[in-house]
Amino acid sequence: MNNSTPAEFALVVPNWFDGERRHRDGPFTIRVNDGLVAEIAAGDHGAALERRGLAVERGGFLMPGLVDAHAHLFLDGAPTDAKLRAEHLKQPLDKLIDAARASARQARACGVTLVRDAGDRHGINNRIRAEALSGTSAAGGLPRVRSGGLGVKRARRYGAFMATDVSDEESIAQSVTRLAADNDEIKVILTGIIDFDAGAVTDAPQFTLAEAELIVRTARAAGRTTFAHCSGEQGLAIAAAAGIGSIEHGFFMNRATLETMAANGVAWTPTFCPVHFQWSHPEAVGWSPQTVGNLRRILDDHARHLRLAHELGVTLLLGTDAGSMGVEHGRAMLEEIERYLDAGLTLDATLKAATSAARRHFGDARPTLAVGAPLDALLLARSPFDAASHAASIAALRAPLKTWVREAERATPGRLPPDSDNC
Ligand SMILES: [Zn+2]
Repeated sequence: MNNSTPAEFALVVPNWFDGERRHRDGPFTIRVNDGLVAEIAAGDHGAALERRGLAVERGGFLMPGLVDAHAHLFLDGAPTDAKLRAEHLKQPLDKLIDAARASARQARACGVTLVRDAGDRHGINNRIRAEALSGTSAAGGLPRVRSGGLGVKRARRYGAFMATDVSDEESIAQSVTRLAADNDEIKVILTGIIDFDAGAVTDAPQFTLAEAELIVRTARAAGRTTFAHCSGEQGLAIAAAAGIGSIEHGFFMNRATLETMAANGVAWTPTFCPVHFQWSHPEAVGWSPQTVGNLRRILDDHARHLRLAHELGVTLLLGTDAGSMGVEHGRAMLEEIERYLDAGLTLDATLKAATSAARRHFGDARPTLAVGAPLDALLLARSPFDAASHAASIAALRAPLKTWVREAERATPGRLPPDSDNC
């Protein structure tokens, strides 16, 4: 906790977004006391509050802090060379922890105040979560972390960097119960990855519907939700029917699965970023023109289903898969926002997915900026809603003036520590 932020202060902005709705025709004065939003008043009361001795911050726009609903903090997305990426993973644990800390700080520099880590085999995500909550100087510049800890996968199948092996029903139930003690959510590796040359998910799902239901049931009994790495029609049908908390990636989505998701309250984190990177930088992987065509088709199909999901009322989250090749922590959040806008979602719907929808999905009882809610927010120089293009909206979101991260007790201030990257 940084004691330089007074317990009581005020923010004056011409307009703001509460996580669901825009509030225009300001100015507005937002008084914060002991980490909570104490009052939101029409008009600029900054001078009067300053006379009372309160610090007053001014900016062009206030909104909830961004939530990256899917990242791997211990992975570094910047290197695109396969050899460098493999070497990163071979580093000793303390180096990987340093890398995760740097990733988290870089996300915060880009306005991300909450990261859901989607798995690492060392449980580094749980450690960074604890540091962020520690209230010590180690927490400086960190976002809060919601952690998938170590996930579960089928032996000899995809996902060893983020999950432990399970086999029969007994081992599934035992592992899920054990992991639920440490992890905020249980991550399930339900399918493999996309074969981009084939333009499809070519392997069978790692778990049957009955096994997926067992995972969901066991996690629920331990008070935890679930999220599934899942792409391809077969796996998606299982995840939706089993009532997994959220489907991650979800490439090769279809209408029937989206309808089941809407009915079962299954959320979706589409993670355009890693596929978009490989489409826009085919040389990084050496993709053929035909495979680049597959990537484009997959992305267009994904964008179409994102719009359909929105129409059908599926809860949309927004996550980057940062740590994947070419997907940098924090910076990718702005790219993923741009993908949603390019897909045809409004800025309101996109920012809701990137803020309050995720907090609500994670069980936050106060997911929007409102009187009585903890201050977890992003102060910008200007409104992304006043921009003439998607790119201009993204430019307005980039480089926040200040961020406040909600803590258990009170918000902490967020000038960036000197060693952190800028967004
Ligand atoms: Zn991932």
